Amino acid sequence: MQERTDGSDEEERLTALAQYGITDVLEEPAFDRLVQLAASIFNVPVVLVSLVEAERQFFAAGRGLDVCETSRDISFCAHAIRQPGVTVIPDARDDVRFRANPLVTGEPHIRFYAGAPLRTAAGLALGTLCLIDRVPRSGFSEPDCRNLQDLAALVLDRLELRRLELARQASQIRFENIAATSPDAIICVDDAGRVTFWNAAAAQLLGYPAARILGRSINVVAPEHFSDRLRYLATQDDALTSGRTIEIVVTHASGRVIPVELSGSMWRDHGRPSFGAILRDITGRRSNEERLFRLAHIDSLTDLPNRTMLRTRLEQALAQEQHVCVIMVDLDGFKDVNDSLGHSGGDAVLSVVAGRLQECVRPGDTVARMGGDEFALLLPGLGDAAAATEIADSVIASVSKLLTVEGQTINIGASAGIALFPQHGVTARELLGSADLALYQAKAEGRNCHRFFTAPLREAAASKRAFQGELTRAFRESEFVLFYQPQVSLNDGSLLGTEALLRWRHPEKGLLTPGAFLPALEAGLLAPQLGDWIVRTACRQTAIWRERYGVPLQVGVNLFGAQFRTGDLAKKVRDALDASGLSPSCLELEITENILLRHDEQMIAPLRELHSMGVGIAFDDYGTGYASLSMLKRYPLTRLKIDQSFVRAMLDSPPDAAIIRAILHLGHSFALDVIAEGVETWDQAERLRKKGCEVAQGYLYSPALAPHDLDRRIQRKGDQLFLDAVRDVRPALVS
Ligand code: C2E
Ligand code: CA
Ligand code: CA
Repeated sequence: MQERTDGSDEEERLTALAQYGITDVLEEPAFDRLVQLAASIFNVPVVLVSLVEAERQFFAAGRGLDVCETSRDISFCAHAIRQPGVTVIPDARDDVRFRANPLVTGEPHIRFYAGAPLRTAAGLALGTLCLIDRVPRSGFSEPDCRNLQDLAALVLDRLELRRLELARQASQIRFENIAATSPDAIICVDDAGRVTFWNAAAAQLLGYPAARILGRSINVVAPEHFSDRLRYLATQDDALTSGRTIEIVVTHASGRVIPVELSGSMWRDHGRPSFGAILRDITGRRSNEERLFRLAHIDSLTDLPNRTMLRTRLEQALAQEQHVCVIMVDLDGFKDVNDSLGHSGGDAVLSVVAGRLQECVRPGDTVARMGGDEFALLLPGLGDAAAATEIADSVIASVSKLLTVEGQTINIGASAGIALFPQHGVTARELLGSADLALYQAKAEGRNCHRFFTAPLREAAASKRAFQGELTRAFRESEFVLFYQPQVSLNDGSLLGTEALLRWRHPEKGLLTPGAFLPALEAGLLAPQLGDWIVRTACRQTAIWRERYGVPLQVGVNLFGAQFRTGDLAKKVRDALDASGLSPSCLELEITENILLRHDEQMIAPLRELHSMGVGIAFDDYGTGYASLSMLKRYPLTRLKIDQSFVRAMLDSPPDAAIIRAILHLGHSFALDVIAEGVETWDQAERLRKKGCEVAQGYLYSPALAPHDLDRRIQRKGDQLFLDAVRDVRPALVS
């Protein structure tokens, strides 16, 4: 196939495009199916079949977008048709060619784009089949490109059929011209079933040259009442021109049977009916379609149906059955296995589990992999809670049996959530949601057990959602504020810095501390945004103090795990420092072990980058978890924060005092600063100082205060700052 990518074929291209006679959205289920297939395979919100005309691109089919055309000069596809292969743009905002494109800066806010040209047999690109996402994506692989091209070929196939039908409606001469160059077999027969036209592709497909077949009966090649079918199709009349096709088999001159797709039509020639057929060999296409269908519906690791397929089958079951049971199954302890055995070991475990689950169900049931270590069982016709219990228990027992992977014996468990139709939901979405909630409940109640859905679970989930909404509203209305708790030198009592602590000025409940809302925050979607606001606000406030007192203070900012997940933490922090003018050495980020353990891989790079800029990194609540020594080596830390529980207990409990000694010792060995938290009495402060701890924070000096309240307590002496009236009492929570 010749490809020209320099635009020199533009005139030819437009002529070719015109032959398809498409000027608007096509109402054809075949295109919708392909678009749907592409959306499932690549998991993108927008899929378009875009045809590029002289002045505009328009979408002959697609989903996920309201508009049906754009001008050509802003079209990504107009660019993609000039490229030899698939055009992949991981992030349009990072691409100089598209950064300022109105489709990027405004609706539909394209970030990711991948487009495969729809190239005719003559190498002319009519447009593209393209994928669009509103978030950037990296890693669109070589196989992904091939799959997209295969889908584009299927789309083109469909377009080709239309072109031929259109040609047939045109004059005989034009028809014969187009037919001569068509890659599809085109055959005409008269009302007696005798062949009157036979193009080159027909000769190729069926092995009879035109000279041998013209005038003979069509039944030679199609014993299966070919002409009857044609006649039948012809009576359906306008259904034909809308591209409806049937699949039949024909016989090659050699006797070989070939599956073909037939689209037939009828017209009158001098008053006598004539029948035309377009035949296309679909051997290759069928296997391609099958492969793509599998890709969209079968999990490649376990060979089980995936989430999409389960949903389709569930919908079928709901339409056909009186009762349906869905059991959601999630493995317990899989993450540990994955961590210790690596991905290949984890994959092997999932395959074994998939096999075991299939042994627990009846013929006709579906076991699907929903993703990760989550599976679902679909049991059509099952409405009996006792029977469902039995199956769930057998699943849990079977998964919990020891298994051996890569020579290691492994012990995992499973939790199950059960939902029954119609009691627990009437739509697929509802039922899956109910089973999910029941699963969470089983997990919350200690795992390795099953739970049925109950109405209160949905109410609890609804109120959780409502609370998330409340958090978002609070953020929008600036109800979150930062308080600052002083950090003081144990040697001379000077003020060295503060820790920024989040508060919520709730319109009805008053000032709330994080205990009341932090878990919900961390579970929701607001954390990265709020975390970013916290960093910016703390930097700004600390820069203000610097300006006001002429003495640099440090500020400690606690991070959410979610701030690491977005992948742009270092940039966000840099922006906050730039915007406030605060020196990087005045900022310290506090990280707890929970975050470290959960986000291991994603953490190192941004932390290194920040550390090399001079930003401090403190290990919060040190000593309360399982932090290993190797972590101190691995992460670019600058300070350890001794947890308040040890400080509280140190005077009465020799083991706690020993832990503090050990942390101080570790800190000195790794050249890390150490700060003690939760210091409430002079005795504690004195003891810490004697052990070699130099900095402390706690109610002894001050609780966290609003900036203007802290201002009232700061006094400058020489080039140092001090707090007035440090007292030896535990204050009531200051609001
Ligand atoms: P944390 O980082 O360990 O913060 C120290 C907590 O101990 C604060 O509670 C502080 O008010 C309290 N505290 C300070 N001195 C004393 C003392 O002498 N005695 C006692 N008993 N407690 C003392 P707070 O403000 O309620 O914060 C609780 C936790 O919420 C924090 O623990 C931190 O993990 C989280 N948090 C607070 N603010 C933020 C934030 O801005 N971002 C993130 N990601 N987490 C935050
Ligand atoms: Ca902290
Ligand atoms: Ca802490």
